[in-house]
Amino acid sequence: MEEARLTELRGIIPHDVTLVAVSKFHPAEAIRAAYNAGQRVFGESRADELAAKAAALPDDICWHFIGHVQTNKLRRILPHVTMIQSVDSERLLRLIDAEAEKMGLSTKVLLQVHVAAEETKTGFSPEELTEVARRCAPELRAATIEGVMGMATNTVDTDRIRADFQAIARTGQRLREIVPSATVLSMGMSGDWQMAVECGSNMVRIGSDIFGPREY
Ligand SMILES: *Cc1c(COP(=O)(O)O)cnc(C)c1O
Repeated sequence: MEEARLTELRGIIPHDVTLVAVSKFHPAEAIRAAYNAGQRVFGESRADELAAKAAALPDDICWHFIGHVQTNKLRRILPHVTMIQSVDSERLLRLIDAEAEKMGLSTKVLLQVHVAAEETKTGFSPEELTEVARRCAPELRAATIEGVMGMATNTVDTDRIRADFQAIARTGQRLREIVPSATVLSMGMSGDWQMAVECGSNMVRIGSDIFGPREY
């Protein structure tokens, strides 16, 4: 973990933008070093890895789940997370709500919107996202919709990246017409977070720029 780089990032990211340090595939010691440098919000993408790290690390860490949620692993994820950012189906949203209620938890969620060119990326279309919010928000009891999460196309074409972030931001605006408290706009990663912030992001998810390359 490059502690100097984390400190530098924390200095240049605007104060009203939450930094999620994406620690997936990096060992607990790397997270502890970031924690000791003052970082409290971390992003993980696999249930078993999250559970192991949460057990080994301080209780005041806010864990955000940012990966694909396998429904059979949901009960393993829920006790540890403050937020699930990667809700990409109505079924998953309703399941999180039901399981969190059974476990006596309240769980913040972001609805993931898909605007990027890659088919491999998941998420609702902007239209689906607002429809699902309209249908589900009044019925949720333990999950609260806090905003949207999205990713730009992986490309060097900055016009395309900007257009993607603007589309994600517009989806966030539409969501707020339905759920006024859903103010989180989670977009921007190591390579593109500055443009995301220019487009209105208030939560960036940065991994490799803090922790170095991941070994899968
Ligand atoms: C891995 C991941 C990130 C971090 O990506 P970096 O390029 O390493 O900053 C951000 N968001 C999501 C959803 C991810 O899966």
